[in-house]
Amino acid sequence: MIMDNIIEVKNVTYEYSEDNISYAALKDFSLNIERGSFTVILGHNGSGKSTLAKLLNGLYKPTSGDVLVDGINTKDEKTELEIKRKVGMVFQNPDNQLVASIVEEDVAFGPENLGLEPAEIRKRVDDALKSVDMYEYRESTPHHLSGGQKQRIAIAGIIAMQPECIVLDEPTAMLDPKGRAEIISTVRRLNIEKGITVVLITHYMEEAENADRVLVMNDGGIIADSTPKEVFSNVERLKNVGLDVPQTTELLYRLKSAGLPVNTHVISIKEAADEIERALHSEDN
Ligand code: ADP
Ligand code: MG
Repeated sequence: MIMDNIIEVKNVTYEYSEDNISYAALKDFSLNIERGSFTVILGHNGSGKSTLAKLLNGLYKPTSGDVLVDGINTKDEKTELEIKRKVGMVFQNPDNQLVASIVEEDVAFGPENLGLEPAEIRKRVDDALKSVDMYEYRESTPHHLSGGQKQRIAIAGIIAMQPECIVLDEPTAMLDPKGRAEIISTVRRLNIEKGITVVLITHYMEEAENADRVLVMNDGGIIADSTPKEVFSNVERLKNVGLDVPQTTELLYRLKSAGLPVNTHVISIKEAADEIERALHSEDN
């Protein structure tokens, strides 16, 4: 089977320079993102996640190596806008991303800049607001909405540009648990229903539960790249790079250390409960 990659990062090194001292935040970094996939990137502060995010839509250009979006090199200045349209970015702070004082005007901002017909803009704005479940708030003032709602408006603004891929850099970091859950279920739905490729950067382990693929970054490189179950079952490796594991995995890990024969390859609460019950029964026999 031929892999269809929307993004290819090839041997990228990215250096920040300050006072004649340069520091490589990414070192000979390579990564392919398959079209239509849902990838979660984890890693402690300073591991290079945001640097990678900004390289994915051409906001940063590699110091060496190449980033290809849909086969187009981000170094090519002529296609800069095309790349920004293909890969939408959502950042941490929703307040910094909203530009207009009415929700629907905010969502219309991107499509207007694409120079689309008013009828097409109207349609895109309505569709985008419906897809993040915020249509009923179209005439509201973003200022009065919750953090989770504001972040969904920011996502709608990206969706209205009809991107191939959305990169979200810790979009839930400033939200409460309810807002976080809203964002995670919204992006998962956009991935499944619209086929939009999602790259979600987070440090909440639980948000990786439903990903197709989890990458763990450390010190400008990748130290794990697999399914959520595989990645989280390696508890020692995550702890070694200063990351926590989901609470369910932590519980199973401790039970296993205490001698209960449980399998740590589960993440959801239901699976964990079933696994503990199974292990307890197998002890009885
Ligand atoms: P993360 O998002 O995983 O916290 P970043 O990509 O923001 O990591 O940072 C990776 C490394 O690059 C860190 O060591 C950070 O200090 C450094 N860095 C990030 N931004 C800059 C900058 N503007 N100038 C200099 N160094 C930076
Ligand atoms: Mg960051």
